[in-house]
Amino acid sequence: MSSGEYLDASKATEVLSKMGPDGLSVEELMDLQHSGGLTYNDFLILPGYIDFPAHVVGLESKITKKITIKTPFMSSPMDTVTEADMAINMALLGGIGVIHHNCSIEQQVEMVRKVKTFENGFIVDPLILTPEHTVNDVREIKLTKGFCGIPITDTGKLKGKLLGIVTARDIQFLDDGSQPLKDVMTTDLVTAKEGVTLNEANQILKTSKKGKLPIVNEQNELVAILARSDLLKNQDFPLASKKDHSKQLLCAAAIGTRPEDKLRLTKLAEAGLDIVVLDSSQGNSIYQIEMIKFIKNKYGDSVQVIAGNVVTRGQAASLIEAGADALRIGMGSGSICITQEVMAVGRPQGTSVFKVAQFARQFGVPCIADGGIANIGHITKALALGASAVMMGGLLAGTLESPGEYFYHEGKRLKRYRGMGSLDAMERTHGEGSQSRYFSENDVIKVAQGVAGAVVDKGSIRKFVPYLITGLQHGLQDIGVKSLDDLREDVYNHVVRFEKRTAAAQVEGGVHGLHSYEKRLYS
Ligand code: GDP
Ligand code: GDP
Ligand code: 5GP
Repeated sequence: MSSGEYLDASKATEVLSKMGPDGLSVEELMDLQHSGGLTYNDFLILPGYIDFPAHVVGLESKITKKITIKTPFMSSPMDTVTEADMAINMALLGGIGVIHHNCSIEQQVEMVRKVKTFENGFIVDPLILTPEHTVNDVREIKLTKGFCGIPITDTGKLKGKLLGIVTARDIQFLDDGSQPLKDVMTTDLVTAKEGVTLNEANQILKTSKKGKLPIVNEQNELVAILARSDLLKNQDFPLASKKDHSKQLLCAAAIGTRPEDKLRLTKLAEAGLDIVVLDSSQGNSIYQIEMIKFIKNKYGDSVQVIAGNVVTRGQAASLIEAGADALRIGMGSGSICITQEVMAVGRPQGTSVFKVAQFARQFGVPCIADGGIANIGHITKALALGASAVMMGGLLAGTLESPGEYFYHEGKRLKRYRGMGSLDAMERTHGEGSQSRYFSENDVIKVAQGVAGAVVDKGSIRKFVPYLITGLQHGLQDIGVKSLDDLREDVYNHVVRFEKRTAAAQVEGGVHGLHSYEKRLYS
């Protein structure tokens, strides 16, 4: 073309509309005949148009028919990922944690109760002693737990009558460790009434100049304490996952589909459970269908059921028809998982998410992309393929809030992370939970479907989840959409475009050609 033949620049958009957009629609991308099953690394999303800052991008998402949360993040029901601490912090940060069931009913109920009774800033399960306990008992607590501000009640338990308080200053210079606490405790107490807000309580602590503030009910029974040393640590959590007008954090927990699991669920529901996840690697079974019907019959909307796992429309149809409030998608894509190798069954995760979510949305059933999320890009892609939320195991393992102790190996600080279908997990004392996920509780020979390993220390999720949130907002900004609803809408309307990635393109998309580098992800 010579310059005289150029088209009028002011008509570029008009010309574009005649040529049609670049790239592929999601259906073209996921055309099975031409590309086979795809996963997150096999494609990219093409950039759109930006006319808004990243921080306005909304990440609110429906994770079941009746529950919407402010960030689309869930932690896996695995015994090296989600116990009470993870669930509390995930909910504070706007996501939700699913408490694992590889433990006794009592232990799981206790964890759910901890999440439901958690009040930011208040210690709702303080260590308490009776007036008959001794100074030595307090010293022992100081040694093992690191604190010694101990409220004293008549029963030595929560909801006992508050009689006094013992702190470091009260026992510091006492020689006789066998002295009963009734002789040394302070009985003239500054307290606050149950229902006091964190702000008011903090104010009282400031004016009383004491280190602890016992919170009591109308009958002067102890219900919680507040520590001055926590004052500065108290943050606001504007995204926290709660039901309207409720102070309680949302809590989810996993169960199996055996008859005993009905009792487990009853106890969990009594503790205030909001969402139950039916934990199975292959969810399309008569056991799960019956369990969904049982739960919907008994609890209606008050306990939401996430059914799964599924990777095909056929599996999804059975569970949707049975009454599932959401579906969990993924088979064999988890980082610790060997199902596809051992069972020859599964599906690449990108295709699974697209096929199931596209089907389920017609019935208003949200989908959760579970497994194989290794970075923020994968999260953005899972949501673009139709998922309403992502579930993460490996990405959250190794954080401060995951169960287990850190240990050092070859100079690296690590935490254990294992598949629930690993022999390690199935052999745990209460292994029934984990074995039932893989239908192997009655087998003489256990066939492993996962491995046990370790991941590096990732610090606290209080920093890691905000990093995920900000990264995801930037991804959506590049795509040119202001919310997750807009993202899904524009994907199904073919406004958002995709492209496949060849093996060479994948190399190009990673760091390459450097002698050495350090990969720091956020600051
Ligand atoms: P103390 O004066 O020796 O009790 O200790 P501090 O008040 O300086 O620190 C106690 C820390 O332990 C605070 O961060 C509390 O939130 C935390 N903590 C956790 N559980 C308990 C408990 O049962 N009793 C007390 N006193 N503190 C607890
Ligand atoms: P410290 O950790 O020993 O400095 O503890 P505090 O500052 O909490 O308590 C100082 C003294 O005040 C102790 O002798 C307490 O027994 C006494 N005290 C009196 N009333 C209260 C009260 O309402 N709360 C607390 N924490 N201490 C009280
Ligand atoms: P990740 O986020 O680490 O890639 O994957 C976590 C997901 O893997 C879990 O949510 C669960 O669905 C799945 N999973 C957990 N343990 C096992 C296992 O031992 N075998 C298999 N096949 N999947 C597992």
